[in-house]
Amino acid sequence: MESDGTSGAVTGEVLVVGGGPAGLTAAVALASGGVPTVLVEGSAPTRDNRTTALLAGSVDALTALGVWESCEADAAPLKKLRIVDDTGRLWRAPEVRFSADEIGLDAFGWNIANRTLVAALEARADALPALQRIAEDAVGVEIAEDGVAVRLSSGRTVSARLAVAADGRRSLVREAAGIGTTHRAYPQTALTFNFSCSRQHHDTSTEFHSAEGPFTIVPLPGRRMSVVCVVLPDEAERLQSLAPEALNREVEGRTHSIVGTVAVEPGRGVFPLAAETAKSFASERVVLIGEAAHVIPPIGAQGLNLGLRDAATVAELTVDALRAGDDPGKASVTCRYDAARRADVTTRTLAVDLLNRSLLSDYLPIQATRGAGLWMLQKVGPLRRAVMREGVAPMVAAPRLMRGEPLG
Ligand SMILES: Cc1cc2nc3c(=O)[nH]c(=O)nc-3n(C[C@H](O)[C@H](O)[C@H](O)COP(=O)(O)OP(=O)(O)OC[C@H]3O[C@@H](n4cnc5c(N)ncnc54)[C@H](O)[C@@H]3O)c2cc1C
Repeated sequence: MESDGTSGAVTGEVLVVGGGPAGLTAAVALASGGVPTVLVEGSAPTRDNRTTALLAGSVDALTALGVWESCEADAAPLKKLRIVDDTGRLWRAPEVRFSADEIGLDAFGWNIANRTLVAALEARADALPALQRIAEDAVGVEIAEDGVAVRLSSGRTVSARLAVAADGRRSLVREAAGIGTTHRAYPQTALTFNFSCSRQHHDTSTEFHSAEGPFTIVPLPGRRMSVVCVVLPDEAERLQSLAPEALNREVEGRTHSIVGTVAVEPGRGVFPLAAETAKSFASERVVLIGEAAHVIPPIGAQGLNLGLRDAATVAELTVDALRAGDDPGKASVTCRYDAARRADVTTRTLAVDLLNRSLLSDYLPIQATRGAGLWMLQKVGPLRRAVMREGVAPMVAAPRLMRGEPLG
């Protein structure tokens, strides 16, 4: 990294815009691989009460990056997953149970508070000499043939050969690169909150599928769980405005008291459901990662896991390009990134969309097909195991970090 003492201009090999979990992971992965990296992380602190279910591959990557050791004590393992059809419809699917030990894993993944994960990433970022963090907003982006320059709110500039856009769903960098998106809104809203419960959750995450969307409870350490409740917007508004005691009763009803009585904690979040995918994940000098590249509904815990695979992929391609004496921002490298990420993002987005639509549909044949699919999953062991393996570690996207191999 170089800094021009008079104008304050900063130059790195790569600049990452956006200090959310995807941007932080990319910056840590790049700097761990020895790449001089500048992270323009934004000036607004994130206030996020959500938790994220990180699948095993993501945890392997965070372990290889030296991040996981400082936050794993605050994460809860997800050893079993249950899908319960709570639609009350004529064609109801059987309950499906997945167990991580069936595919030789201790857990499918771990559930962790976003704040804890971000704090662990920030602590690791501070320990990497190849990484410079700048707590300012990018306010302008200029993309030239040989590099990218980002203007900061203070008037300083940061330039690099490659810019990684991790600046979320309204990405300034994506817009500057002229990359459009396809957008789909769903008639649903996700309400999130956490609760403590009187019974053990036994490291089991349960999805209750209702006709409005899934109500998912995910273990946290001790007798605590997080909730993602997908319902129609009016219902989300009603639930959000309930007094804690009334919401406790709602949760006990929706979970059929499987974790006993509950006490909801302060802090509820409301997220209208949408899917948005960039038409390309890269152009010359720019790659898109995390929600700058793809937003998918919070069903099946896919969003940030995709974002971490993006981060691992861009870090691997950059490290390899630099070792080969190549320019990491040239079109042949960024095109390789786009190609590497397309199938993973497309298949996950499609799977979540189909699952969600099959729940919302009143059309009997669709309900019957969904029921038959879940029945097959419950009854056919090899199919169930294949689905579990693909869910944890997709065949189409296996950057080295996701296999726990460090880049440095
Ligand atoms: C209810 C809910 C539950 C979810 N649960 C899961 C789950 O269990 N598992 C999972 O894998 N995923 C889950 N997700 C998805 C996950 O939360 C997102 O994929 C993830 O938060 C996106 O991270 P990101 O870093 O890409 O974007 P963000 O978190 O949006 O970060 C973007 C960052 O960029 C910064 N920024 C923006 N503009 C600028 C600028 N101009 N200059 C500098 N900085 C800028 C912002 O301040 C922010 O810090 C869930 C999502 C929702 C809504």
